[in-house]
Amino acid sequence: MIKHTPLWWETAPQPKSYTGNPLPTQTDVVVVGGGFTGTSAALQLAKKGANVTLLEAKTIGYEASSRNGGQALSCLHYTLTEIVEQHGKTLAGEMFLAAVEAANTVERIVKEENVECDYTRCGSVEAASKPAHFERFKREQELLKEVANFDVQIIPKSEQRSELGTDAYHGVMVNPRGGSVQPAKFVRGMAEAAVRAGAHIHEGVRVQNIERVQGSMDGIKFKVHTEAGVIEAKDVIVAANAWVGKLIPQFRLKVFPGESYVIATEPLNDELAQTLIPHNRVAYDTRHILAYYRLSPEKRMTWGGELTLRGVSPQRNINALQKGMVKIFPELVNTKLDYFWNGTLALTLDETAHAGQTSDGIWYSMAYVGHGVTLATYLGQQMANEVLGLSSNNPFANLNIPFIPPYRENAWFVNVGKLWYRVLDMLG
Ligand SMILES: Cc1cc2nc3c(=O)[nH]c(=O)nc-3n(C[C@H](O)[C@H](O)[C@H](O)COP(=O)(O)OP(=O)(O)OC[C@H]3O[C@@H](n4cnc5c(N)ncnc54)[C@H](O)[C@@H]3O)c2cc1C
Repeated sequence: MIKHTPLWWETAPQPKSYTGNPLPTQTDVVVVGGGFTGTSAALQLAKKGANVTLLEAKTIGYEASSRNGGQALSCLHYTLTEIVEQHGKTLAGEMFLAAVEAANTVERIVKEENVECDYTRCGSVEAASKPAHFERFKREQELLKEVANFDVQIIPKSEQRSELGTDAYHGVMVNPRGGSVQPAKFVRGMAEAAVRAGAHIHEGVRVQNIERVQGSMDGIKFKVHTEAGVIEAKDVIVAANAWVGKLIPQFRLKVFPGESYVIATEPLNDELAQTLIPHNRVAYDTRHILAYYRLSPEKRMTWGGELTLRGVSPQRNINALQKGMVKIFPELVNTKLDYFWNGTLALTLDETAHAGQTSDGIWYSMAYVGHGVTLATYLGQQMANEVLGLSSNNPFANLNIPFIPPYRENAWFVNVGKLWYRVLDMLG
């Protein structure tokens, strides 16, 4: 029987609990949300001596941060070629290098804080789903060298089995700086490190609204209203990702939730695992509706993405994922599926991360489009630096975010968008 629960929850130690302590009435900084963004921000703030209170509506990492593919990527959702077209060479280069630094930041935190999270700097593989996409790799390789002095390796179809045991692709591109983590262990480990550094974490506390106060003494600029009481704070960082619009109204019609689904097989034998992903890298393909996959530490093929739709039965999504997996790796046709789960990402129509400060002075960081393991960790840290007045690097500030159609709880247009992307994938 397939278990409907994230594999990462089952293979992590029992999480620490942060409940039962009364809320403070005042603090320097309130961080709203306990995923990668919030725990990383809290860790940095506490290490630099700030009095920080992290409020999490559920439990640490409960949403995307413990449910993702665990791909710690050293790149962005768009290719550098696309980012140059959108933002010009200078800003595009800064964004790409921030992504590279984001991957370094994950490695640094894991080492400095001794976070046990099966971290490896294994590299990532992008697989060309069409011949034209391999041609794109060649241009991308040149541009990465020119703009960011960054080296990737491209491998033609005839030799791609050295990276992925399949003939279904048209060549691959290897980014040596990517890595992998067990995400539930990583986010919980960052929370524990933040607490060791002096941060206060309160689980099960939902922030209802953030009130800007004028003319207050002691530098207090905000009243943070929660179900459990009000906290006065000098600064607030909203790290609520897909739910940012509930707290910062200007994002209500700009940032929307999208679901992604994942299956994990039974553990593969060593020989098969070695054949399918010889260097144990994390992998994804070049389609709009892409598949992302990797071997878990116990060598389960962990496969996410595909044309999985919100609202259809779990079994239909399981079937779609399994079909996509078997198309690439036919050897897995009879391999048992042990886990299925889903998670909610924050999306914007420009499919770019956004971090900065509102005109009211609230800090935010969100919408990493499938690259949040590294980017959320990095930008959470950068937002903390900004609050503290330390030097920071944030090329994702001040970008316009396009408006989306109105919706209530579920963004109905996500399924429409996925189907449209599927048509584009079929065309070329
Ligand atoms: C299935 C799936 C697969 C993915 N795979 C990858 C991958 O392989 N690599 C990669 O880099 N990225 C991946 N991502 C994306 C990545 O997981 C996210 O970008 C990242 O986790 C975002 O972190 P976050 O802290 O900003 O948000 P979240 O982890 O979503 O955390 C936000 C937190 O805020 C809390 N919150 C919300 N509202 C309130 C409130 N009012 N009061 C208090 N707390 C509140 C929530 O409970 C939640 O815990 C994937 C995402 C999904 C869903």
